[in-house]
Amino acid sequence: MTQKYHITLLPGDGIGPEIMAVTVEVLQVIARQFALEFDFTDALVGGAAIDATGEPLPEATLEKCRNSDGVLLAAIGGYKWDNLPRHQRPETGLLALRAGLGLFANLRPATILPQLIDASTLKREVVEGVDIMVVRELTGGIYFGQPKGIFAAETGVKRGVNTMAYTEGEIDRIAKVGFETAQKRQGKLCSVDKANVLDVSQLWRDRVTAMGSEYPDVELSHLYVDNAAMQLVRAPKQFDTIVTSNMFGDILSDAAAMLTGSIGMLPSASLGADGTGVFEPVHGSAPDIAGQDKANPLAQVLSGAMMLRYGLKQSAAADKIEQAVSAVLEVGYRTGDIMSPGTRQVGCRGMGEALIQILES
Ligand code: NAD
Repeated sequence: MTQKYHITLLPGDGIGPEIMAVTVEVLQVIARQFALEFDFTDALVGGAAIDATGEPLPEATLEKCRNSDGVLLAAIGGYKWDNLPRHQRPETGLLALRAGLGLFANLRPATILPQLIDASTLKREVVEGVDIMVVRELTGGIYFGQPKGIFAAETGVKRGVNTMAYTEGEIDRIAKVGFETAQKRQGKLCSVDKANVLDVSQLWRDRVTAMGSEYPDVELSHLYVDNAAMQLVRAPKQFDTIVTSNMFGDILSDAAAMLTGSIGMLPSASLGADGTGVFEPVHGSAPDIAGQDKANPLAQVLSGAMMLRYGLKQSAAADKIEQAVSAVLEVGYRTGDIMSPGTRQVGCRGMGEALIQILES
């Protein structure tokens, strides 16, 4: 029987519509091969939404997202909207989308594809075989804790304050995502904290350790964040899945991503409790190359694969897309951002056509 899914597409701005078009074509091919049916609906977000409605996340868009099985987002932003007041900026729409869908877990893989190894700034022997997933808590911790602000004391001296706070419940739900993600991968989970200095981190470590007994198939370890940063660039192959708090994850996921060296290749997933997930590339809207058929669509296509794996639980279909991406690079196709001598340059559409050819072969 055909399994049907309602998917909201948010192409957004800049290169967004180009990379989204390729991804939709790839998903249509996959649907035929795996007896799936995608009911795609477009909605406005970011600058495109500001132009049409005055708001970066219209209520109608949020409603469509809430009622779908998955949301595929491309990228938002561009020079045109850079000087608007903060509540009207494209980025505000993105934050509102995360908040509106309760997306508390952010998954960012950093996988070195053998064909792109030389794009990394690190030595081949250090990065060869790296395959890391960073699970970052997204809606708590120091970015949201109260009190926060800049306060003037009676003396007139100003004091800037942010508060790093987590409840047991907030730690447990992200730890659960960490353990379950590790189960789908190599079964190793490293929890990163600063328990030697921070009380909030001690609670984090206690809760993660306690939960470990529920997952005997997952090998749990702990690292302090300063050591984790060092280990990520010293010996990244020791990591499989990392789970960490909002700010530590913000920093470590960027460091891990750059092991791969190519921003046009990196997907991400943001997940809520049982609700809709948002799947999007890590890169922005690349206004410098928008509309020129130069964008690399692979991060968006791989975000589609993450939607299949983590949102719709269709791992075999996700595997097929990831294998096709690997194969297209193996054959030598490259967009401008990942070109190297001896490879064959194609545009965004050309990369899509090559992918589909491989999927159908
Ligand atoms: P960017 O990621 O858009 O671009 C950085 C550089 O990488 C540019 O040279 C661009 O051409 C290149 N690049 C990015 N994606 C590419 C792809 N798929 N293929 C080929 N080359 C690619 O970052 P930026 O220039 O700092 O920001 C541009 C706009 O995007 C800004 O308005 C920013 O606010 C927004 N932005 C949005 C998101 C998001 O939607 N999640 C994330 C980051 C930045």
